[in-house]
Amino acid sequence: MKVCDHIENAKGKTLISYEVLPPLKGGRMQDIFDSLDPLMEYKPPFIDVTYHRQEVVFNMRESGYYEKVSIRKRPGTVGICASIMHKYGVDAIPHLICGGFTIEETEDALIDLAFLGIDNVLALRGDAMKFEGRFNPQKGGHKYASELVDQMTHMNQGKYLDSNLANAAPTQFCIGVAGYPEKHFEAPNFDTDLMYLKKKVDAGADYIVTQMFFDNSKYFDFVDKCRAAGINVPIIPGLKPVTRKSQLISIPRMFFLDFPEDFVKAMNSAPDKESVKQVGIEWCIAQSKELKAKGVPVLHYYTMGDTNTMLKILKEVA
Ligand code: FAD
Repeated sequence: MKVCDHIENAKGKTLISYEVLPPLKGGRMQDIFDSLDPLMEYKPPFIDVTYHRQEVVFNMRESGYYEKVSIRKRPGTVGICASIMHKYGVDAIPHLICGGFTIEETEDALIDLAFLGIDNVLALRGDAMKFEGRFNPQKGGHKYASELVDQMTHMNQGKYLDSNLANAAPTQFCIGVAGYPEKHFEAPNFDTDLMYLKKKVDAGADYIVTQMFFDNSKYFDFVDKCRAAGINVPIIPGLKPVTRKSQLISIPRMFFLDFPEDFVKAMNSAPDKESVKQVGIEWCIAQSKELKAKGVPVLHYYTMGDTNTMLKILKEVA
């Protein structure tokens, strides 16, 4: 079922959903099941599975020369989606990125997803590869997520890249896109980023999932600004429990967002690892409760495989 239909059927009740990462290569599907099994009690109507692009690394050979090697650390997004749908009977949402795909490969990937009965896709641009300063699209691939949304909308209308196809079946994808309450880091300012978010929605995106945030007022402001800009699709807040002090540095560096002063103070004054974790859990509970009270459609958790933390949060929130 489509995310938008799940939201509509909930009739104002806030749903719970999760994002999971494929395990590192060599990992087992059972690890994902073990982390999800206890969380299924909270009846997520859908579970997102991230996509991880191929990376290029340079290995030093015996001769002293460097060898350029392509590796994919977390393959398996589509297989994991199929397994989740099969085991739990819930919708699985693969993330699909522009990076590393030509438009023809994107079309083939989307055909596979449609054949698997996947109704929803989160359409993303992807990030630059580690050794690149900025995002470089694949030759013959999309430069921005809005172009991927365009392609999906065309397929939903039965328009494939080969315009000579007779009786091409329209796909039925419900299309999600990313939104950034604290602005995407490459955007010159918030309003420009918002304009491009609207472009994704105008191209056919059905809903938005936000980057994590730790100050709910940033989410509420973001929603207000989206509505004022004519973006009227559901905006699903993304939430991440912080459980370690080191994340006070790594998360802003990685995701370009701020932690509220009160939160930083509480984390820094917690005497040991357990109390730090507790501060993070309580913060996430408070965020979730306020968002729920304000009637957000879904609380979408970046679980990172930390089931025990998630259970402590959901026990208080759901
Ligand atoms: P876009 O919407 O294309 O925007 C990228 C930048 O370009 C923005 O600064 C925007 O303002 C600007 N822009 C957009 N259109 C134009 C235009 N026409 N002209 C000029 N500038 C423009 N990454 C992964 O690799 N795998 C994942 O599974 C994954 N999941 C994610 C899930 C969520 C909920 C979120 C929020 C992010 C996720 N990401 C993932 C990270 C995402 O790929 C990066 O944040 C990426 O840098 C931007 O992706 P986007 O889809 O928002 O890009």
